[in-house]
Amino acid sequence: MLSNEQNASGSAEGTPSADSPTTSTKRVRDLHEMTHDELAELLSSLGQPSFRTKQVEEWIWTRHAMSFDEMTNLPADLRGTLAEICSLGGSEEIAKQVSRDGSRKYLLRFADGVAVECVGMPTGNRLAVCVSTQAGCRMGCVFCATGANGFTRSLRSDEIYEQVMYVGDDFATRVTSVVFMGQGEPFANYDQVLEALRRLNSPMGAGIGARHLTVSTCGVVPMIRRFAQEPEQFTLAVSLHSAIQQTRNYLMPGVHKYSLARLHDAMADYVERTGRRPTYEYALIAGVNDTENELEALMAFCQGTLAHVNLIQLNDCPGSRLKPSTQERAEQFVHGLGSVGVEATIRNSRGADIDAACGQLKQRHENKGKRSR
Ligand code: SF4
Repeated sequence: MLSNEQNASGSAEGTPSADSPTTSTKRVRDLHEMTHDELAELLSSLGQPSFRTKQVEEWIWTRHAMSFDEMTNLPADLRGTLAEICSLGGSEEIAKQVSRDGSRKYLLRFADGVAVECVGMPTGNRLAVCVSTQAGCRMGCVFCATGANGFTRSLRSDEIYEQVMYVGDDFATRVTSVVFMGQGEPFANYDQVLEALRRLNSPMGAGIGARHLTVSTCGVVPMIRRFAQEPEQFTLAVSLHSAIQQTRNYLMPGVHKYSLARLHDAMADYVERTGRRPTYEYALIAGVNDTENELEALMAFCQGTLAHVNLIQLNDCPGSRLKPSTQERAEQFVHGLGSVGVEATIRNSRGADIDAACGQLKQRHENKGKRSR
């Protein structure tokens, strides 16, 4: 079973307990890293009434305040004290690309210099955001630029949350759905991902409905079973990419120990327990997983189960030997799956004119840095 990666920079610089700020002018902790109780204790130690906790939480989580000066319903002297002893997290945008289809891809850097990608995808009056859960990834999927570049660290829940709020601010609109489908394997960072999901869902956070929060995993079976037991109605997607073991082992070496048979069982239990319909992601790769054998195996894997299949047209990355299947082949897959009662859709590849695939923008940015040194 994969361990739950602990974040490498979890504790803030120099920082002690939440009850020391009254006696120190040192920057203590980032407010986003504090639990509700820790924040309440801090404010109480500063002689504040209990309702201040809710006010401060609203500023940091719901309104995404970027400075203490914005917190206009707090007394000026409290704002000054908080600015002296706490930091306010946030991120720095180090690259951004805007696609012709309106989607925007960002490379955001956190305080310790670690950078991750996230994407905003507007459709009408809705805004979907795709977030990263780790900087880098250990899974090594062969079609993924992130997988090729190794692993740095897992993100904290507030860093995952920050990506959503950053994108919402940039579009100046409310985020209506979030997919945990960027860099990293969410279930290798389970606790922080769950905390981020709960904050995104909370009325004291982003207030996004649980069904509009989707976690996408490569198929980490023990965590799928754990996720099925969470009380919220979060949505689950599984990157399948092949229903033939040998092909899947080649495409997704990081999950080879969770066989397709175990995955199938875990998904059946998930559906039985939650009554929710999961999605299988299937990136069609010419000559690799779009053959007749592959289609038959996929039909057999899905037949009789509650599932939706998203057929994704792979981004055609320069230099990659993996090429997207034709539209005609994708339609044949839709037809084949439909013939056994499985609903499938061909998903538009958003941002095809920018570095939309996971890890590409970061890779390009890093290569640029290397060239200019
Ligand atoms: S596709 Fe996702 S799980 Fe696979 S290597 Fe890339 S980031 Fe990791």
